Amino acid sequence: MFGTFGTPRPPSTPRRFGRTARLVVLAIAVATGGTAIAVNATPSSAAACNGYVGLTFDDGPTGSTSALLSVLRNNGVRATMFNVGQNVQNNRSAAQAQVSAGMWVANHSWNHSHMTSMSQSQMQSDLSQTSSAIQSATGSRPQLFRPPYGETNATLQSVASSLGMRQVTWDVDSQDWNGASVSQIVSNAGRLQAGQVILMHDGLQNTRDAIPQIMSNLTSRNLCPGMISSSTGRAVAPDGSTPPTGGTTTPPPSGGNCTATATTPNVWGDRYNTSVTVSGASNWSVVVAVTAPQRITTTWNGTASLDSSGTVLTMRSNGSGSTFGLTTMFNGNSSARAQIRSCTTG
Ligand SMILES: [Zn+2]
Repeated sequence: MFGTFGTPRPPSTPRRFGRTARLVVLAIAVATGGTAIAVNATPSSAAACNGYVGLTFDDGPTGSTSALLSVLRNNGVRATMFNVGQNVQNNRSAAQAQVSAGMWVANHSWNHSHMTSMSQSQMQSDLSQTSSAIQSATGSRPQLFRPPYGETNATLQSVASSLGMRQVTWDVDSQDWNGASVSQIVSNAGRLQAGQVILMHDGLQNTRDAIPQIMSNLTSRNLCPGMISSSTGRAVAPDGSTPPTGGTTTPPPSGGNCTATATTPNVWGDRYNTSVTVSGASNWSVVVAVTAPQRITTTWNGTASLDSSGTVLTMRSNGSGSTFGLTTMFNGNSSARAQIRSCTTG
């Protein structure tokens, strides 16, 4: 049902997802817990979010959804997951884990059919069944719909609309479904502009491996991952507000219970210190990123985990209070400042 050998692989449909999904979900228990997190990010003054982009991952949940969620969380990313209803029904815990990790979950049809050849009632049944499966698994009914293969028509759009969903396709195709290398995926993501949406997929190693560099590049352009607005189809701040215009600071999204605020108390010729204060939780985890070629060299007052590039720091509370710090070497870039990616509790 997902295509046959001899047909070209269309966008948004790596052939192997369909063939393996049901076997994989039977074999793998996604153990990601149901920890609710609040993602409150307060970019420091010189590295504000001057715009948002929508990162999307289609065709899940898959057997490697938990691996994808780990990469996303470690990089402070919130993304939109366009799920296939049948996969959700067969792997409800993975869909729950998506929401627990701070992702937005959306509708990508029941079994990835070519929907434009369906009757209106078939479309209605397909999308409704998918939304119900997602709601049953996650507690939330999707507000976004992406047609399989990007194939749509006026009837399908109106059916989606009648079910409370806005159709969203994409501005940039990462080509991950088409065998793109990590560097090609990173390069394609480099075309993203504020407000735009990129197509990627759950279940591909190259896609997961590209995420740290994609995020580093977005950070260097003052772009942040955001939510796709169900009213405009464009990427907006995670709390649904419009991107800031002018100014150099971004207020934290509301509704969370953990907020991190960065200041820069010391600047020297070759390096600077960043002080981060966390409020709203005593057991916290904060992701901080700097812009390459800057590199984080020293941290204090927390349990630090630094990625291999030295640009993404995950700091966890260690009982030393609610303020931690880091030293960053300029390495030629003396203007950028550290940016808070996320603050999560637990
Ligand atoms: Zn797809």
